[in-house]
Amino acid sequence: MPLTEEQYMKELRKQMTEWRHDLHAHPESAFEEVNTAAFVAEKLEEMGIQVETGIGKTGVVGTLKVGDGERVVGLRADMDCICLQEASDLPYGSQTPNRMHACGHDGHTATLLGAAKILSESRDFSGTVRFVFQPAEEPGWGSKAMIEDGFFERFPVDEMYGFHNMPQYPAGTIAVRKGGIMASEDNFTIKIKGKGGHASAPDVVKDPLVMAAEIICALQTIVARNVTPTETAVVSCTELETDGAHNAIPSNVVIRGDTRSFTPEVSRLIEERMESICRHICQMNGAEWEFTYTHEFAPTFNWKENAEYAVKAAKAVVGEERVVENCAPLMSSEDFGRFIQTVPGCFVFLGNRREGEESLPLHNSQFDYNDDILVTGARFFAELVKQRLAK
Ligand SMILES: [Zn+2]
Ligand SMILES: [Zn+2]
Repeated sequence: MPLTEEQYMKELRKQMTEWRHDLHAHPESAFEEVNTAAFVAEKLEEMGIQVETGIGKTGVVGTLKVGDGERVVGLRADMDCICLQEASDLPYGSQTPNRMHACGHDGHTATLLGAAKILSESRDFSGTVRFVFQPAEEPGWGSKAMIEDGFFERFPVDEMYGFHNMPQYPAGTIAVRKGGIMASEDNFTIKIKGKGGHASAPDVVKDPLVMAAEIICALQTIVARNVTPTETAVVSCTELETDGAHNAIPSNVVIRGDTRSFTPEVSRLIEERMESICRHICQMNGAEWEFTYTHEFAPTFNWKENAEYAVKAAKAVVGEERVVENCAPLMSSEDFGRFIQTVPGCFVFLGNRREGEESLPLHNSQFDYNDDILVTGARFFAELVKQRLAK
């Protein structure tokens, strides 16, 4: 006798929870995801899905073609953990020191496997689905590695979707917005070389620490006075390093930090203004300087139509009242953004907060993915495919 829908979902939940706990116990960080990739490949092959491994070092892509539809939908999960010692007493806690699934990528991986299982069994669409398991989301290098390894040429997709679990939303809520949903991250280093000397003789030195203080304050005017008020950006100095002697004015000071924004134009403006501020303050004080600015994460900028498709699928799965259609963007960054710079797509948040509980933030050493949302995420992905590749 075939399973009822309820029995099927119950079985699926059991299976996905087992996968998730297995992944949680064996976390691997950026580009180390060898066992995780093998785990994913094995499960996909068991489902009869065509698998290719080693894309962008440890990435995996599964391809499932059903019927003669020509469109291709890509669904993406991230596989890496963070370098943190787990402090939980879970029976399936991390077995590897200083490695932990504290961002829930174990849940994301299990969710995409769950979606693959649903779709490989239901086969109620016409077209191709690509299940994209990317490495190294945390440092923001995984999607780039896959793209440079020919992802879009070898595995063409017409549109792509991804998600992240979010403690600020109740379990089962799906939140999305058109446009920027997660910011870009750029990093900067400012090296100032003045002339150090005795702390008691400021008149014969060129004090780089005073210049650094001026620069740090001046950098705050970029968001306040250069970025258009309706745009969003953050400039944060996070490290200040000197030569380190208590009674000597240093010769060298290094300032490091990062900036966040939603568009390449704002990112470029911040970079230009920072360079100009450093140059002028150092020149004015007769010091040498070196300014470096690197682009780490692309912004995650949801395409309008694809955000609408995501909302429609989300409503079909969790009901209208649990879909947030115009959620606030986050200033943190997400490596998925790079994929949808090339093809249309959308990224959503899946709430994970358990009712009546205060949820732990992502990257907390006791974080544990909420297994109650595994099936929700898998059904959302499967529904998107069903709608986008309707027969
Ligand atoms: Zn994270
Ligand atoms: Zn994450």
